Amino acid sequence: MTNAIKPCSNCTGCSACSVACPTGAMSIICDDEGFYRYNVDYTKCVNCRLCYEVCPNHSDEVSDYVCDFDQRYYAARNIDEEVVCSSSSGGMFAAFSKAIISDGGSVYGVVINYPTCSIEYKRATTLEETYPMRGSKYIQAKLSNNIIEMLIEDINNNIPVLFTGTSCYVNGIRRLLKLKKISAENVVFMDFICAGVISNKLWMKNVGYYTQKIGTLKKISFRDKRYGWRDSCISWESDNTMCKTKYALSEVGLFQSVYEALGRSCNECKYRSFLHPGDITVGDFWNEQYLPRKWWDDKGVSMLMVNTLKGSELLEKCKDNLEVMDVQKNMVFSSSFELLKSVINEKKREELFSDADRMDFVLFKQKWLKCSFKDKILLGIVRPIFLRLGVHRYKK
Ligand SMILES: Cc1cc2nc3c(=O)[nH]c(=O)nc-3n(C[C@H](O)[C@H](O)[C@H](O)COP(=O)(O)OP(=O)(O)OC[C@H]3O[C@@H](n4cnc5c(N)ncnc54)[C@H](O)[C@@H]3O)c2cc1C
Repeated sequence: MTNAIKPCSNCTGCSACSVACPTGAMSIICDDEGFYRYNVDYTKCVNCRLCYEVCPNHSDEVSDYVCDFDQRYYAARNIDEEVVCSSSSGGMFAAFSKAIISDGGSVYGVVINYPTCSIEYKRATTLEETYPMRGSKYIQAKLSNNIIEMLIEDINNNIPVLFTGTSCYVNGIRRLLKLKKISAENVVFMDFICAGVISNKLWMKNVGYYTQKIGTLKKISFRDKRYGWRDSCISWESDNTMCKTKYALSEVGLFQSVYEALGRSCNECKYRSFLHPGDITVGDFWNEQYLPRKWWDDKGVSMLMVNTLKGSELLEKCKDNLEVMDVQKNMVFSSSFELLKSVINEKKREELFSDADRMDFVLFKQKWLKCSFKDKILLGIVRPIFLRLGVHRYKK
C-alpha cells in the first residue's frame, strides 16, 4: 500500500481521474448519498499523482481556455417552434448538435435511460440520437470511462465533436485532454448555468414512487412547457397514463431548493460566475423585460455567453436556424441564485440521507419537501396569474 494522494475533497464526479489513472486504482462510484465521486483502490495505487494533477478542483485554469477573447452575450432562440417547445430554454442544443451532426461529427449529451430512468451520458452520430438528449435533467449524470474513451477516439479521428455538460464535467474533460496532450481543436464544449445537481439516490426514490403510482415509466419531461416556460411542469408518462406537477411544486423543484439534497461540490461551485470552461455557456434568459415583445410568448428564450472564438464560429454557423440578439453583460443573469454560493448544514444533510434510506417516499416527502398551504397558493395560483399578466417584465 502506498501513500496515495487524495485527488480532492470536493469531487464533482467528472471521471477525469479515473481515466487518467494508469493502474486502474481510481474509479468513479455512486456514494451513499447518491453522488458520483472518486474511489481509490490503494492496493493498485503507484502514487503517480496523475489523479491529483488532472483534478479540476486543484486548478483555477478556466481562464486559460477563454483567454484572448472578449466574452459576448446574447439572447437567442431556435426558429423551429417545435424544437423550442421540446427544449428547456430556447433550443440552442438542438441547433448546435444539428450543425455538428451535419458535418459528420458526434455529440455527447445526457439522456434518461428507460426503464430504470438512470441519467447517463450517450454518444450520438445521427440527429435522431440527439433527440433524447434534449431537455435538462436536473440530476447528476453518469459519465462512464467508456464514453470518455469514445470521445477521445472521435477527437483522434479528427471529426467535429460537441460535448455538453455541467461546467465541472466540461472542465474535467478539458484537463484530461490537456494531461494526455490531446488537442481539443475539433471539440466544442457547451456548458450551463447550473443551480446544482440532485442526488441519484433521491431521484431513484422519486422514480420508484411514480412507477408504483402509474406503472413502468416511458417518458419523463423535467421541463414540460404545456403551461408555459416559466410555469413549466414535470411530467411522468407510462403506457396507460400521465402525471404532471407544476415544477415549482414538484419533488424535483423542491429538491432544488434544499441545498442539502444537491452535490456537496455544488454548494461551493466555482463556476457561479462569468468565467466558464465551455466555449459557449447556455441558460435561461429570464430577464424578459430586455427582450422584444415577439419573445414574450412564454415558449422559452436562451441566454448565451460566448467565451471563445470556436464558440463564436459555431454560433455563426447556426445562425440560419436561430434568432439571435446581442445583449449587455448585466442583462444575462436574473440576479438571484445563479451567482450565489450556498451553505450546507452538515447535520441536516446527514439526517436527510439517513431518512432517504429508511423512509418510504411519501413520508420522506412529507418531512423534507414540505410545501405550506400559503406556498401552494402562491406558487400554484398567484404566480401563474402574475406570469400571465406579465408583471415580471416590469420589475426593475
Ligand atoms: C443540472 C442543470 C442545472 C441547470 N440550472 C440552470 C439554472 O439554474 N439557470 C439557468 O438559466 N439554466 C440552468 N440550466 C440550463 C438550462 O436548463 C438548459 O439546459 C440550457 O439553457 C439549455 O437549454 P436548450 O434549450 O438550449 O437545450 P436543451 O435541449 O434543453 O438542452 C439539453 C442539454 O442539456 C444536457 N443535459 C441535460 N441534463 C443534463 C445533466 N444532468 N447533466 C449534464 N448535461 C445535461 C443535454 O446533454 C443537452 O446537451 C441547468 C441545466 C442543468 C443540466
